[in-house]
Amino acid sequence: MRLRHKPWAQDLIDQHPKFVVPQAEQYKGMWQDKFQKQQPIFIEVGSGKGRFITEMAKTYPEFNFIAIELQTSVVVSILELQLELNLPNLLILHTNGRHLNQYFEHGEVNRVYLNFSDPWPKKKHAKRRLTSPEFLEQYQSILHPEGEIHFKTDNQGLFEYSLASMSQFGIILKQVWLDLHQSDFEGNIETEYEMKFSARGQRIYRLEAYFPQKEI
Ligand code: SAM
Repeated sequence: MRLRHKPWAQDLIDQHPKFVVPQAEQYKGMWQDKFQKQQPIFIEVGSGKGRFITEMAKTYPEFNFIAIELQTSVVVSILELQLELNLPNLLILHTNGRHLNQYFEHGEVNRVYLNFSDPWPKKKHAKRRLTSPEFLEQYQSILHPEGEIHFKTDNQGLFEYSLASMSQFGIILKQVWLDLHQSDFEGNIETEYEMKFSARGQRIYRLEAYFPQKEI
């Protein structure tokens, strides 16, 4: 993502703890109390400028949403959208998705969205991919037993890697789309990257997956 330097970004974030939650570790296991309504929590890791998660929060008031984004200059773009919209079911976490189990209790999250995650094509950077085993462990440790991962990308290499990584991890692939925009999938909400890549005629891949439950 091309980033504009925004020296004022951290100040604006600090002024809005109602939306960008500071010291978020203290809410582990208590995220429902941070929202107006107690309802399933859906998170997006790597939200970018926030188009997808804000549209989702608008469209689905019956769910609570948390945008998770690493970069200050991007977090502030989500915040600016939220300052306009004031959605009661959307919070922002300014952190690295690598440490999700510091923020969420097991079972606290009902869905993880990964949209157009950075592909990190070099093998030596594979651990940074949001579908590497290190990240999958994190999702497993916070997801509700009936929770799901929903992943979209334009990047064939990352999609193939993710299918293999999830299968090796033992994750069950519920459904796979090899050309989302030419499919009968209804209600797709496009991300910023998705709009850009599909305008160039690039194919969009999508999958839904879940962790099998351990037999007792
Ligand atoms: N999801 C958006 C979209 O589809 O338009 C943005 C896609 S952009 C390629 C990937 C975003 O993920 C960037 O904003 C980046 O800062 C963020 N990101 C990458 N690794 C992350 C991590 N470990 N934790 C949180 N955010 C991350």
